[in-house]
Amino acid sequence: MMMSPASTHTDIKRRSPLSEFRVALKMPVLCSSCAEKRAVLKRPKTAHSLCKECFFWAFEEEVHQTIVSAQLFKHGETVGIGASGGKDSTVLAHVMKVLNERYNYGLKLLLLSVDEGITGYRDDSLETVKRNQQQYELPLKIVSYEELYGWTMDAIVKQVGLKNNCTFCGVFRRQALDRGAMMLKVDKICTGHNADDVAETVLMNVLRGDIARLRRCTAISTASEGEGVVPRCKPLKYAYEKEIVLYAYFKKLDYFSTECIYSPNAYRGHARTFLKDLEAVRPSAIMDVIHSGENLSVREGVKMPVQGTCGRCGYISSQALCKSCVLLEGLNRGLPRLGIGKHHRLHEKILLQQPLTQEEERKLKAVDF
Ligand code: SF4
Ligand code: ZN
Repeated sequence: MMMSPASTHTDIKRRSPLSEFRVALKMPVLCSSCAEKRAVLKRPKTAHSLCKECFFWAFEEEVHQTIVSAQLFKHGETVGIGASGGKDSTVLAHVMKVLNERYNYGLKLLLLSVDEGITGYRDDSLETVKRNQQQYELPLKIVSYEELYGWTMDAIVKQVGLKNNCTFCGVFRRQALDRGAMMLKVDKICTGHNADDVAETVLMNVLRGDIARLRRCTAISTASEGEGVVPRCKPLKYAYEKEIVLYAYFKKLDYFSTECIYSPNAYRGHARTFLKDLEAVRPSAIMDVIHSGENLSVREGVKMPVQGTCGRCGYISSQALCKSCVLLEGLNRGLPRLGIGKHHRLHEKILLQQPLTQEEERKLKAVDF
């Protein structure tokens, strides 16, 4: 799933799309593409009845078209595929490998995973990634929060509780992927964000009035924003989640579908439910929301954050310290609220390692979340 810097990975319970497509095809219907084989599904995106092979071909070709028309890669590049073991990144890894061979992209592909340190979730999903590594014969690099930050998500949740944990996780993951990519000298990272994820993010940013993120969130790729930031792209940006599930199902791909044990993230859940309801009435709603986001223009004179670099770690930041360093400082000082909400005026103090006042500490300590 993608992801604006502070956005998070969620696997909120979804309705299984498989049942509705099988029911739709109780009567034998010929594939509308080859007109030879029996259709096994109705495409959620186009409502065409297709056989398995024609569906695979249509799905892969659309991803290929996305890659070619947005010029996502250059021949000879090393591309890290953000792999969580979930359906999106597993389908992405599979399709990237197929297309790289079919169209001779000339890419060196590898899998890049982040171990957040969530017992009973990430340890299991990483086993799936390790199997994928064997199945797709791709090199795999795993970077862990524990080695990078000295904290696992299990330990973070113990300190911060279950309300803001995804803020920590989302911010740390973004930087962890960049760090892993740099260790491997990767030219680009591609992530499994699908059309539903992008549409959800557009809705969330509209609802929050976050104009800076709204402007960025529909971009299919990001240029390198500075030192330590590897360009990213989303080859599945126009692929419907339902079709990703169907593709994984009919290809019998090996993926992990359990949701994170720490996934409250209620706000994204509401945007997701709202979008699913819209999609049920009008399947093009997902694409319509993305197109609306893509075509928005921001009035001149609207104040945008100016990107600089973090005074501590050098990562991009519009403040004196990047979000990751602030969150980490909060954890290490036992002041978990430091990175939640706006405490920018304290960044300079932290950077200079000046002590906080008792009143400042009292406010930042409270774990009423
Ligand atoms: Fe995703 Fe779980 Fe991390 Fe939240 S805590 S961002 S749900 S992996
Ligand atoms: Zn930093």
